[in-house]
Amino acid sequence: MSRRVRGTVVSEGLARGEALVVATGEVSVPEGHVSEHQVEREVQRFRRAVEGARTEIAREEKAARERLGEMSEIIGWYLTILADETTLLQPIEAMMRRERFTAKYATFRRFSEVAAQFEGAGEPMASRVPDIIDVKRRLIAHLRGGRKPLGELERLQRKVVIIADDLTPSQAASLDREKVLAFATDRGGPAGHTAILARHLGIPAIVGLDNVTSMVRSGEPVIIDGLSRGEVIVDPNQDDVHEYQVLSRRLQARRRRVHLDQERALTKDDVPITILGNIDRGEQVGGLRELGVEGVGLFRTEFLFLGNTAPDEEAQREHYGRLLRDMAPHSVCIRTMDFGADKWDHRVGGGKEPNPFLGMRAIRLSFAHEGLFRAQLRAILRASLEGRCQIMFPMISDAAEFRRAVGVLDSVKDELRKEGIPFDERVEVGAMIEVPSAALTVENILADADFVSLGTNDLTQYTLAVDRTNPLVAEMFVPHHPAVLRLMQRTVAACEVQGKRVSACGEMAGMAEYAPVVLGLGLTRLSMAARRVPDVVTRIRKLSREACRGVVEAMMAADGAAAAHKILTQFNRPPTSRRRQTR
Ligand code: PEP
Ligand code: MG
Repeated sequence: MSRRVRGTVVSEGLARGEALVVATGEVSVPEGHVSEHQVEREVQRFRRAVEGARTEIAREEKAARERLGEMSEIIGWYLTILADETTLLQPIEAMMRRERFTAKYATFRRFSEVAAQFEGAGEPMASRVPDIIDVKRRLIAHLRGGRKPLGELERLQRKVVIIADDLTPSQAASLDREKVLAFATDRGGPAGHTAILARHLGIPAIVGLDNVTSMVRSGEPVIIDGLSRGEVIVDPNQDDVHEYQVLSRRLQARRRRVHLDQERALTKDDVPITILGNIDRGEQVGGLRELGVEGVGLFRTEFLFLGNTAPDEEAQREHYGRLLRDMAPHSVCIRTMDFGADKWDHRVGGGKEPNPFLGMRAIRLSFAHEGLFRAQLRAILRASLEGRCQIMFPMISDAAEFRRAVGVLDSVKDELRKEGIPFDERVEVGAMIEVPSAALTVENILADADFVSLGTNDLTQYTLAVDRTNPLVAEMFVPHHPAVLRLMQRTVAACEVQGKRVSACGEMAGMAEYAPVVLGLGLTRLSMAARRVPDVVTRIRKLSREACRGVVEAMMAADGAAAAHKILTQFNRPPTSRRRQTR
């Protein structure tokens, strides 16, 4: 009988296929013993599992090297762990012989001990812990042949729907778009970076499903309805399948491609809107160019570093240079690395703080690791003559902090001048406005900035005190809250007064339902994932900015998010169902 579970859609779409339940969280193994005469056989079983895991990882590393470049090296590091006789393999065997532990339990115990030692040793050792846990999980999976560990996803033979407890941004980044039809997870929130990546990869995703992993078995048929209901339907019946087919045809019709050369983003009252793209890897500009977007409004560079060995200055210079050339003559806004919170890098650590979103993140981490920061700035500047380059700093909280970041940039420029290395002296510099303190003091920031960009994801999170990744408060994560809108409005107004460019690059900018809001606030530059462009442009063409201004005024005056949302949904309702034409 079909079963349904509802969650939060973070990447719109539909999928129907076979479920693959994967364990991404911690595994737990109860203590177990074998009899005296089974000990040596168990030790051999352990050695075979190590070999099996090694072969599997080596194969994955090769495949990943072709597909992911630097990011594959994290997989290579797993091989080093599996070859560690002194710390891991021999102590496990000794334990099995001494205590007659099962191979599974001895593996679990020793790996857990070593992970705890690494954890206690502080950085950079502590940042290796997730890798040790992942190798432990793989080895135990080999020993018991149960759920597949996530790493096996890289050699999927068939198309599947991934069902997991949770996915980190780097796990999501390694999903094979060709084989993964969709994913559904117990945990996760709507505006986390895993969700953002799913949208970039175009993989339908529903998160915050609570216990979907215990409802589904690998091999069972499932439907992911990330369109009408936000549901996972397990073992669908004929009616469910019929409904899926109807929705699927509707979705295809809606996704007819829009090319901005033919269908400009122009409002009904002739206000041209500049559509820019959000990317997290240079290769994604191809998709943006096909759509005819007018530049990259946000390049989240930290995704280049999600791996064990990050690209050095030279590798970064090449990547940025290629990207600038590919996008020329349009501009590319390169945001310096935004680590911390839900994205970690082994060299900067992270994820171990009680409140990581309020802790060492983004520009704060860049200041704390100035060598890495300077290397990135050098790479960007050295590539800058290849096209039209802009630099943007994330999570700026006030003018002094912005000036400090610009100070580092200026000193890097001086260094390059002394070395006789050319760069584009006209590179523009801007700040993300995503912390309320920055929005409230934006006039001062603008004194030194060429432009700013509204990061509505973090602005919503920090204004409303709602963790963007926490499913328990997902319903409170609402960028249409009057407080968020007022902060956005004052930012746009300050930019108008000072004649500085302002764009929005958070998820709100790429949601057709919010087009009346961003237009009404006076924004004319919107940056979004490529897949969002057709829907947003289609919506913009049906709107008049004057009408949108009225809607936003009313929303900002509302007494809370619910009232503001009601005003917006009434406006967004199709004209036929409204008594009076308001647009
Ligand atoms: C934002 O916060 O809105 C933003 C665009 O940055 P990120 O989502 O990468 O934090
Ligand atoms: Mg942000």
